[in-house]
Amino acid sequence: MVYEAHFQAAVDSVKSEGRYRVFADLRRKRGDFPNAHLRTDNGVDRDIVVWCSNDYLGMGQNPIVLDAMHSALREVGAGAGGTRNIAGTTHYHVKLEAELADLHQKQAALLFTSGYIANEASLSTLARILPNCTYFSDGLNHASMIEGIRRSGGAKHIWRHNDLEHLEELLAATPVDASKVIALESVYSMDGDVAPLREVCDLADKYEALVYLDEVHAVGLYGQTGAGIAEREGLMDRIDIVNGTLGKAFGLMGGYVAADAVIIDAIRSYAPGFIFTTALAPVLAAGAVASISYVKQHNELRVLHQERALRLKTLLREANLPVMASDTHVVPLLVGDPVACKEVSDHLLNDYGIYVQPINYPTVAKGSERLRLTPSPLHDDAMMKELVTALCQVWERLGLLMRAA
Ligand SMILES: *Cc1c(COP(=O)(O)O)cnc(C)c1O
Repeated sequence: MVYEAHFQAAVDSVKSEGRYRVFADLRRKRGDFPNAHLRTDNGVDRDIVVWCSNDYLGMGQNPIVLDAMHSALREVGAGAGGTRNIAGTTHYHVKLEAELADLHQKQAALLFTSGYIANEASLSTLARILPNCTYFSDGLNHASMIEGIRRSGGAKHIWRHNDLEHLEELLAATPVDASKVIALESVYSMDGDVAPLREVCDLADKYEALVYLDEVHAVGLYGQTGAGIAEREGLMDRIDIVNGTLGKAFGLMGGYVAADAVIIDAIRSYAPGFIFTTALAPVLAAGAVASISYVKQHNELRVLHQERALRLKTLLREANLPVMASDTHVVPLLVGDPVACKEVSDHLLNDYGIYVQPINYPTVAKGSERLRLTPSPLHDDAMMKELVTALCQVWERLGLLMRAA
């Protein structure tokens, strides 16, 4: 094969840095989340507990969601049969977009095949529509936002993560006649910190900027109906464009933006990432409608989710494990080295049947490699105790740093 050496060198370079990624071959057990089977190299299944899923509420196994999907499958079959413009819009898509618009109290919503595509397509399209478009992007924004902004060809300023003074400095230095878009996340998924949303909205008002908010790690999880941090903070009407996923707390797959009807209409009409790709399978749309309406009405799921996260943080702290500060459901445990991080993860899986992926560069900065634990309402006290005991033993065996007292 031509160029084989180049491909091999690329892979070797990742390996030499200790951040070569290996996928675990899993089979989730319906109705039994977070328990799952791991397919091992010798072809045997073993029981494990999943501690790193973004199916934060276990909705991917909720019987109401599964029923909705089964009946959609029986009714209309498998695929959408085309792009939304060509034969791919079904009643399920229409209903789902209405449900999403309602969730975020917006006039309209637009579906994409993933949250990634929703960000990439929407952000890159704004500069085609807005004259002299300038983006103000938080320094820790997700790759999908970075990619969309880059693709747009618009001017771009990166403000230091959650640093309002820096954001204002950059806004003030930009010509008044430039269109401005502030792009940020509400919950940052690796550290579990939250953006100063109200203050960002104030700056947006002052400098006449649009606010584009990625609530991917907050939808379903925060606010009285699960619309996200903007709902919790009473700021929904001040967010111009909200982005979310159906793949995390809602347990399925797909992404969306919600906004004023005219914004949605413009994105729908201009974004290649919407126009030229087959619509989400109707089965997924049907499942998402069921999941969102369930999650909306069951605030007790959110209460329990927060309680579980707090409980785990407390247990880790009491065991002197280096749990990082987090204001949300994300529980990061610092290792600080890619090789050790992978080793911890391997030991947990092989010796204890505990599955938590190492999080290494480029997902997080070098030197801040970590385990990212995501307790759900279904992770009980016994599971937590097993996890903490296993972690303490692995920490000791590998001689890793405990938490500074
Ligand atoms: C996961 C993620 C996305 C992408 O969502 P998908 O639906 O998984 O494509 C977008 N933004 C952030 C912050 C994410 O963590």
